[in-house]
Amino acid sequence: MAHEIRNPLFSIGGFANSLLRNTSLNEEAREKARIIFEESRRLDEILKRILNFARPTEQKMGIFNPEIVARQTMELMTIGAADRKITAVSDIAPNLPKVLGNAENLKQCLINLVKNAMEAMPDGGTVTMYAYRNDGHVAIMVQDTGVGIPPELQDQVFSPFFTTKHGGAGLGLAMSRKMVEEMGGKVYLKSKTGEGTSVILLLPAALAVDDPSLQETK
Ligand code: ADP
Ligand code: MG
Repeated sequence: MAHEIRNPLFSIGGFANSLLRNTSLNEEAREKARIIFEESRRLDEILKRILNFARPTEQKMGIFNPEIVARQTMELMTIGAADRKITAVSDIAPNLPKVLGNAENLKQCLINLVKNAMEAMPDGGTVTMYAYRNDGHVAIMVQDTGVGIPPELQDQVFSPFFTTKHGGAGLGLAMSRKMVEEMGGKVYLKSKTGEGTSVILLLPAALAVDDPSLQETK
């Protein structure tokens, strides 16, 4: 459907653009043409995001060590945290089992979660990344002491394009859930208004007898 909307939109934008170049147009009419042109561009950007979201992500599956990904993410995200009065804590259990999936995608998920955590603490606070073994899974939890999510919004935050932020894309949680589910995992949310939020990823541990066709990535 997004494709079908893009074609007429392309005509609208194109003709608005040609009107804009028409020198016989008075200023008032040109301003209107400019708005049509810019709004059609904005719609096109939204459609591009929808098309991107609908596409399966590039997931080259491999066996990797989730501990490395968790540590790398925290190293990356801690830069600049102190300036924002945010304490970043890592609580990562030793000897975690490896998981099957895509390390880069998991890193992107964790970056999304830590970014949300930091954005939820405008006056500072603590973001903690926990990683631990949980039955046949590796659990990774990103916890913050931020504003929390009201109960009536908790079902919506994973919907693509849902955002409460000015200029937010609303894709962080939706993309994260999609990528984790593609790895055979699950995402859970726990949140209390005024206290904070935890997002938990459960990733299936790779079995001891692994498929030899899957190469070790990290
Ligand atoms: P975005 O960050 O662009 O708004 P996300 O998909 O990452 O999109 O998050 C969607 C919405 O969920 C946010 O706008 C916010 O309202 C809520 N949210 C996500 N993470 C948190 C969090 N850690 N604390 C409070 N609210 C959150
Ligand atoms: Mg976000």
